[in-house]
Amino acid sequence: MTKLEQIRAAESRLLLSTYDRNPILFAGGEGVYLIDESGTKYLDLLSGIGVNALGYGSPVIEAAIAAQSRKLIHVSNLYYHEGQAELALRLTARTGLDRCFFSNTGTEAWEGALKLARAYAGVQRAAGKSIGTKFLALEHSFHGRTFGSMSTTYKAKYREPFGPVVPGVEFVRVNDVADLRAKFSTEVCAILVEAIQGEGGVRPLSREFLAEARRLTSSTGALLVVDEIQAGLGRTGKWCAYQHYGVLPDMTTLAKPLAGGIPLGAVLCTEQVASAIHPGMHGTTFGGGPLACAVAIAVIDYIENAKLLAHVTETGDYFQAQLRSLATRHSAMVDVRGKGLMVAAELNSAELAKRTVAEMLQRHILINCTSDTVLRFLPPFILEKAHVDTAIQALDEIFTAHAAAKTAGDHAHV
Ligand SMILES: *Cc1c(COP(=O)(O)O)cnc(C)c1O
Repeated sequence: MTKLEQIRAAESRLLLSTYDRNPILFAGGEGVYLIDESGTKYLDLLSGIGVNALGYGSPVIEAAIAAQSRKLIHVSNLYYHEGQAELALRLTARTGLDRCFFSNTGTEAWEGALKLARAYAGVQRAAGKSIGTKFLALEHSFHGRTFGSMSTTYKAKYREPFGPVVPGVEFVRVNDVADLRAKFSTEVCAILVEAIQGEGGVRPLSREFLAEARRLTSSTGALLVVDEIQAGLGRTGKWCAYQHYGVLPDMTTLAKPLAGGIPLGAVLCTEQVASAIHPGMHGTTFGGGPLACAVAIAVIDYIENAKLLAHVTETGDYFQAQLRSLATRHSAMVDVRGKGLMVAAELNSAELAKRTVAEMLQRHILINCTSDTVLRFLPPFILEKAHVDTAIQALDEIFTAHAAAKTAGDHAHV
């Protein structure tokens, strides 16, 4: 048995079968490439689902981990360390919000945001204002796997086996302003959105829809909460995807790329919303630890110093342009969309999408398929145009072969 076969056999006995893993054993990485145990390089256009923003083997991250691990890895939130305020200063400056709470993961950041929204509504109710406890979330949303997050996540298969879910959530059709207006009332304490839905198929909100969500929430004292866990921290070419809309939410969440691969999440909110939280109401053992904070500071400073936001915009525009040009030659590609290096190509068939991911893997290129028919690209921010060309050529060959096989098949049926 190969090492991979041994590991597969052991995992199938020992682990919960939560994942349908691809049969590759990764052992290292370098830049935009992952390297398997036999030394084969894979062009990674997914970066650990949007986590490894600086790619693999980043000297910046290595140095931050080495230096901080010599000083202090964990200290409880009962005491101070130098990282949280330093990082919060950077995040508040870049998000336009005032205060920060650190968690470990995306879903925990989102739980924090939901709790804070309810607490803030409670404070307003106590002050005599008419405001309820209901959340409006969006169809095709994804906010995580813990109870609150899952309850605000649209897909039934993520929620129904675990029911009853947290009550008080209603789903609104994406970009349907009339549906949003119809479901909004003083019962609502927050509208919850991703400015660009990630798991839901890289679907951007329309300007009109996000502006209306802002207007409605402001009119009653409800909160606009934008989940930037996937789209945030530079992936779309701005620090937050909502900045493309000229809208400032009351609260946002960050996680995936925040500490370059070390788990870290953050909730950011306005001074006003923050006033609802007092010592003891919320907290975490590990969140905002010194190691994760030191790495996040290094990641943010590198994105800034290396002018990566401009690079993400330029490379992302090139990527989309190349995909659009491919779509003119392949009718199976029905849409190309995204912002920066959050890019999608929608195909006309789920079966083809699944096959394309598998055939890209055979060509040592990693992508994934979300929302059945959508090929999703979330590469590291350090991606170059030459890497885009490699991916485009592979897609071209796969679609050409598929079209030829289909034509041959159609003739065979005549
Ligand atoms: C991944 C993701 C989450 C959940 O993050 P985890 O770290 O997996 O808990 C929440 N919201 C969005 C938009 C995501 O993409």
